[in-house]
Amino acid sequence: MKKIAIIGGGVAGTTAALTLAAHECQITLFEKKSSLVGGPPFCHLHAGGNLYPDISIDQCIRLLEESFWFYRYFPFAVEQRPTLIVVPKKCELDPRYLVQRVQVLQKRYKKLCEEYGFAPFGDPKEYYTLFFEEDLKKACKIGQKDFPKTPHEWLAPVSAELKKENIKFPLILVQEYGLNIFRFSAGVDTVLNSFKNVTVKNGCEVLSLKKSGDGFEIEYKNEKSLDKDRYDIVINAAGFESEKIDRALHLKKERYLEFKAAYITRWDNDAVWPEIIFHGKRGTKNGMAQFTPYAFGFVQMHGMSKEITLFEGGLAKSDSQNRSPLNRSFYEKIDLGWDERELAQRTAKAIEHFKDFLESFPKKAKGYFKPLYGIQQIPGKNPDLRAAEVDIVSKNYFRCEIVKVSSAINMAKEIQKEIFKEVKENFDYLKILEEESLKQKAAEIARQRGYPSELSTLLNPPKLFPQTELPEHFIE
Ligand SMILES: Cc1cc2nc3c(=O)[nH]c(=O)nc-3n(C[C@H](O)[C@H](O)[C@H](O)COP(=O)(O)OP(=O)(O)OC[C@H]3O[C@@H](n4cnc5c(N)ncnc54)[C@H](O)[C@@H]3O)c2cc1C
Repeated sequence: MKKIAIIGGGVAGTTAALTLAAHECQITLFEKKSSLVGGPPFCHLHAGGNLYPDISIDQCIRLLEESFWFYRYFPFAVEQRPTLIVVPKKCELDPRYLVQRVQVLQKRYKKLCEEYGFAPFGDPKEYYTLFFEEDLKKACKIGQKDFPKTPHEWLAPVSAELKKENIKFPLILVQEYGLNIFRFSAGVDTVLNSFKNVTVKNGCEVLSLKKSGDGFEIEYKNEKSLDKDRYDIVINAAGFESEKIDRALHLKKERYLEFKAAYITRWDNDAVWPEIIFHGKRGTKNGMAQFTPYAFGFVQMHGMSKEITLFEGGLAKSDSQNRSPLNRSFYEKIDLGWDERELAQRTAKAIEHFKDFLESFPKKAKGYFKPLYGIQQIPGKNPDLRAAEVDIVSKNYFRCEIVKVSSAINMAKEIQKEIFKEVKENFDYLKILEEESLKQKAAEIARQRGYPSELSTLLNPPKLFPQTELPEHFIE
């Protein structure tokens, strides 16, 4: 039986373990942190790439397809709420350009639903909805719902808050859902620990590896002891630290590393909001503003300017020696945490970033919490790449290179095909998940990592099994 070592228990490593476990093999998953999926954060399922007007429509379609499957595998981590796309007057984008793109995406989504018989993002007819100025007035009258169901109900809480004089119309409500990292972590931990052929080694760092006959010898540190084992296959899923594993095998790979952060605040508002994107040119002071609502008035904010989410020197290319290229201060933030003053300042700037768009949020937002942050890798020469999967370096060494988490499914399928010549899909593992214990475990993980446990709460937990069925009426 093949012995497979997976180095890194982020989304890439856990997805590889979960899918490979359907085959006859023995898997060891090494994760140096105390829990799984504790690396760079994620909050958005990029089901159409509508946050990225600069990427090609082909990349958008690929993100849509990958997200379709991501939902199928990980419904327990999905927050079922749409995203409102807004183009500010200051931004040179024309909303009609975005409308053309969602039309293409809607067609592709409809085809996927027909082909596979399920509709994770709802009725394809409502994949997107356009709103004009008069719709905002109508939406104000709808009033707040406990949980909005129609596109107009989703618009209702936002309509009174939006500063209409600063935005272009139409607005686009698109079914790009949210993701919850704490739920993902809790769910995959439960599932992987239930598999007989998977050993999860948390708190276990791979120190070195070398070729050994047809396979590899891996040396690892477990609490206080050092150990060695031999494996037939190695999957390098170490995220931005993949280069260290490559280096041990004298392999080189070009990649970018990017440090980014999203900030948390809270405001007095009990309505259920969609996520909102206010587009803007990345890296400028008017860079895109992303408003991500959580339960109990918590809000996560991205601002794509160097004073908020992006950092001076925060994007760097790996040098030819494959050494870590970012300034030491970024790695220190990961290992030791943030300087309190910098965190307070950046959070305040993030709140202010919404002052041209939202009436009361910038005045009502209070306080700051530990930010969600980390370093992500972008393989190759193009730092704008958003859809990438896996580099099959040899028949027994794989390097996972996902940029967005949705790519993990295609990545895992490629690895399965290469090792076992077939892809097995079995969603029975979802049956072992139970909402109440998942909720508690996710809250505990959030607390352990220093976040308010409220951030682990889904406003609208999806059905885990069976999953969203195809609405009967949508196929004309
Ligand atoms: C601020 C921010 C916001 C983001 N938002 C989104 C979003 O909304 N949607 C989205 O799709 N993507 C988002 N991303 C990108 C997303 O976080 C990454 O694509 C994803 O987490 C990468 O997963 P991974 O498994 O490849 O790497 P990681 O999550 O980094 O996992 C690698 C793991 O390997 C472990 N490891 C490393 N070296 C060793 C070793 N020697 N031994 C044992 N373990 C080791 C690490 O501890 C880590 O847990 C965001 C990124 C950032 C920084």
